[in-house]
Amino acid sequence: MPGEPGALARAADIPSLDRLLNAPALAALAPRYGRTQLVAALRSHLDTLRQAALAGTLPGASIVAETVAAQVQAALEAAARPRLRAVFNLTGTVLHTNLGRALLPDEAVAAVVRALTAPANLEFDLDSGGRGDRDDLVEGLLRELTGAEAATVVNNNAAAVLLMLNSLADRREVVVSRGELVEIGGAFRIPDVMKRAGARLVEIGTTNRTHPADYEAAIGPRTAMLMKVHCSNYAVTGFTRSVDVGQVARIAGKAGLPTAVDLGSGTLLDLSRWGLPREDTVRETVAAGADLVTFSGDKLLGGPQAGLIVGRADLIRKIKKNPLKRALRVGKLTLAALEPVLALYRAPELLADRLTTLRLLTRPAASMREQAERMLPRLRHAVGSGYVVEAAAMASQIGSGALPVDRLPSHGYAIRHAGTGRPGRALEKLEAALRRLPRPVIGRIGDNALWLDLRCLEPGDEAAFLAQLEAPLA
Ligand SMILES: *Cc1c(COP(=O)(O)O)cnc(C)c1O
Repeated sequence: MPGEPGALARAADIPSLDRLLNAPALAALAPRYGRTQLVAALRSHLDTLRQAALAGTLPGASIVAETVAAQVQAALEAAARPRLRAVFNLTGTVLHTNLGRALLPDEAVAAVVRALTAPANLEFDLDSGGRGDRDDLVEGLLRELTGAEAATVVNNNAAAVLLMLNSLADRREVVVSRGELVEIGGAFRIPDVMKRAGARLVEIGTTNRTHPADYEAAIGPRTAMLMKVHCSNYAVTGFTRSVDVGQVARIAGKAGLPTAVDLGSGTLLDLSRWGLPREDTVRETVAAGADLVTFSGDKLLGGPQAGLIVGRADLIRKIKKNPLKRALRVGKLTLAALEPVLALYRAPELLADRLTTLRLLTRPAASMREQAERMLPRLRHAVGSGYVVEAAAMASQIGSGALPVDRLPSHGYAIRHAGTGRPGRALEKLEAALRRLPRPVIGRIGDNALWLDLRCLEPGDEAAFLAQLEAPLA
């Protein structure tokens, strides 16, 4: 008898698609998912049932309408779950490129929601009623915060470098020190970008030492500009010599050439006032004589993904006339988010509280230590007796190539395997279990331990984090 517990169903016992669709349990799913999706999911589930029936393994209970409905609903829910999901970043890397880099402050979130749900003056001049330029929305702020004459915004810093080179150095030469021919993660290499931009790279100096005379000697009739690139994700130490922006700009100026600087992360304020390592700011780079400076929106700046180009008005005008600018421009969501983030910089003394990235970077280790102690029993309970969980000091990093050699003292958990088996396997198993949580927890494995750095788990997120640890993990 089909439907009787323990009995097996035959293929012929499976109700038809139409009959099931009319059953109340399945009909109830139509308003939520729509008939098209529901029929497709039901059809696919019936195929699975039929195959099991032919194999003689289909329990009679699984062809009851309510059971079928539950299975189909689970499949529909799984398919509806967004692929882009919120995670907990416990890697210790604050600006983690693979986890989306900077987190935006509430002001930016609200501005994005407004831009998504209401028409906006993206390219409409409210004063004249005529056509506007989307760069105007943030150019004033960028000029104010960097001291540059003009500014433009594109999709990311890689696009900014590409556009700048193509606009000003197509079929001409760009002089760069060998010590600055960097590769940033995700296949951004200065020599390759240069080639794609149509510019010819002229390498000077050596990996560890470049002198002013190297720049002077490289200048010829086909030179378009001298360029400096921030080393971002590595440091040259020891017997080194590089030429600072001011000196390069003086050499370029004498030859009537512009100097461009790819600052990479680019910071608008000296972060040493918050105890973070010092970096040249965009303003200082402009003041030192750089004619163009490019930097990212979503690294230290703490905004949305964007590439910012600031500098001399005549050069920015040329860049904006390049048809590539149209292809690389940003959308309204980016501009909506960028404007309030830039505006926060007008109040530097409040920035460490308001700008999420800076707040995370400046969280004192004591805060993470207290948090680690507080949550320790819950985590121990969740991972079970197969592991030893200890609160431990560790070091976070800024990430995204910003200040690569500097580490920030932090605190979190070191989880080790308790048994005698291969520790690697056990740690991978736990790491995978954390990744499979509704809001995945991302840590890092190293030195026979799974490390969870609490720097990016702000107190406001703690309850959501702990709620997931109610049930045992492994
Ligand atoms: C990060 C970086 C880039 C690329 O910036 P994106 O915004 O990721 O495109 C380019 N140059 C340098 C020096 C960088 O550090």
